[in-house]
Amino acid sequence: MIKRHIHNISNLFLIFVLLLTIHGSAYAASSATERISYSEFKKLIQENKLEEVILDSVSIRGILKAEEGQKFKKYVTTTKVEDPDLIKDLISHNVKFSATTQGGAGQYLYLVWFIPMIIFLIMMTRARRGATGAGLMSIGKSRANLYIDKDTGVTFGDVAGVDEAKEELKEVIDYLQNPQKYQRLGGKIPKGVLLVGPTGTGKTLLAKAVAGEAKVPFFSISGSGFVEMFVGVGAARVRDLFAQAQEKAPCIIFIDEIDALGKVRAAAPISGGHEERENTLNQLLVEMDGFDTRKGVILMAATNRPETLDPALLRPGRFDRHILVDRPDIKGREEILKVHSKNVKLGKDVDIKIIAARTPGFVGADLANVVNEAALLAARVGKDAVGMDSFEEAINRGIAGLEKKKKVMSKKEQEIIAYHESGHALVAESVPGADKVHRISIIPRGISALGYTLQLPTEDRYLLTRSELLDRLAVLLGGRVAEEIKFNEVSTGAQNDLERATDIAMSMVREYGMSEKLGPMTFQNGRKPLFIELGYRAGREVSEEVSKDIDNEVKKIIFDTHSRVKSILLENKDRLQALAKLLMEKEVIEGEELRKIMSEIAPNPKTETAV
Ligand code: ADP
Ligand code: ZN
Repeated sequence: MIKRHIHNISNLFLIFVLLLTIHGSAYAASSATERISYSEFKKLIQENKLEEVILDSVSIRGILKAEEGQKFKKYVTTTKVEDPDLIKDLISHNVKFSATTQGGAGQYLYLVWFIPMIIFLIMMTRARRGATGAGLMSIGKSRANLYIDKDTGVTFGDVAGVDEAKEELKEVIDYLQNPQKYQRLGGKIPKGVLLVGPTGTGKTLLAKAVAGEAKVPFFSISGSGFVEMFVGVGAARVRDLFAQAQEKAPCIIFIDEIDALGKVRAAAPISGGHEERENTLNQLLVEMDGFDTRKGVILMAATNRPETLDPALLRPGRFDRHILVDRPDIKGREEILKVHSKNVKLGKDVDIKIIAARTPGFVGADLANVVNEAALLAARVGKDAVGMDSFEEAINRGIAGLEKKKKVMSKKEQEIIAYHESGHALVAESVPGADKVHRISIIPRGISALGYTLQLPTEDRYLLTRSELLDRLAVLLGGRVAEEIKFNEVSTGAQNDLERATDIAMSMVREYGMSEKLGPMTFQNGRKPLFIELGYRAGREVSEEVSKDIDNEVKKIIFDTHSRVKSILLENKDRLQALAKLLMEKEVIEGEELRKIMSEIAPNPKTETAV
């Protein structure tokens, strides 16, 4: 709509320019002018050949009388000379004359550009105003990214599984409701509360709930929204935000993704947006220091990368209150699922506890998605309640992307994947420290995961022992080793496994002090992200020698585990064969079936070659 509008304006502009240009050139063509000397000019007067004369400060232009059949008028021009008789001569020969201060056509020429430019500018300004609700002059007041909610309507009842965070935020609510109560005793009121946690854990929801519980307006803006293309706009926006908020106090200002704005100066890339971001950040610091908490404005911000924040933001009197909003544990997931299935008609077979157990690592947003997806799936097949099967399907989709049953896979590929996944599963069932296998599937899902072996933790774990880590490592290598045993060759399918295995081994050596050779020391420097992002590697500032030792230790852990896995799978060779065959047939095998196969088929004897 807006695009079209501008499009029309530029069309209009183009036509206007064209018209004027055509007009201008006609004028230029008609005024083909001949330069003559002053004496020749005088002669033309004497011979009565001139119709009209235009005088300016430096030159004289004459229009010749038209001859028979002449289409255009002819012009002459000459340089002005001191001639007191000129006017007298013109009068006596009946020549019209006039004077200008500027040259003839020149005075129209600038109109060709000037008028349309002005019109264009006016129209652009109008279009802008229409688009953003503000004119060019008040761009700093633009509210495009600012979101104001008089009453969020969200309560603590809508946020589940974050009891500790809620407990801490109760104080903020109480303060917003009775600011006087706190001031009376001189209590220190929090100015800035930083919510720290992975994406989708409910940080925004929590901030809204605080506003909703306290029944105060909620101003929200995203840190990335501050980073503008015009210098000074971000800072102006911050000023505007605080000015508006103070008018509406008590209220909450919520800045999402504050890391986009408050990056550590050194960590920021050198680019055009860099300086602007710093200006905006400085303005935020100024406003934070300047605003009076007694007015009842509480600043809340969210980030999933607290380690990248400029320390200036975290100083006392700024965002000095930090609240962790972590991934929910099994109990938390159960509560979140309950919140989101409140208005969903659940089948009798649905057990929320089991769904919670099946979704370790899922955050609130993922769980909300699972419930919604399950409801849609059930509705699609015309059920009148959402059953456990729909939930299972929704979870599987959540885990590995949409099922792509139709994706064709060659028999050979399918066989490789079947052995690979069977390898994971058999190792998982054979080592004591791994989670039990819930399901093995070779139905391709999404792009990266060809097949998967799903292990169900029986409990949420916060601490892992060295042998448990080694067992997990073994499970990861199981896929690759099964391929080696069956095909005497390896495929690219294990890349993700190997990456994760290497990460575990690295962490064991560098972070957990679990290497015998290097002893209980850690070898990592710099600020480590609280929530590891993909591709993150801790910086190492250790000597070359130690660095070599680390590499050797990591290698040793991987190699030792590899040979351990090899002997496990050689012992399970018959089982591996049977399992892979069944998997190719059925595509999906449940944990019980796997354990049945294991109880029915005896292990192979240990062989000397199993190294
Ligand atoms: P964040 O701000 O941490 O990225 P959001 O607050 O935007 O996460 O969460 C997105 C959505 O996920 C919410 O609107 C809500 O539907 C759901 N959700 C996330 N966490 C929770 C939770 N703890 N309890 C209930 N719902 C949640
Ligand atoms: Zn694998």
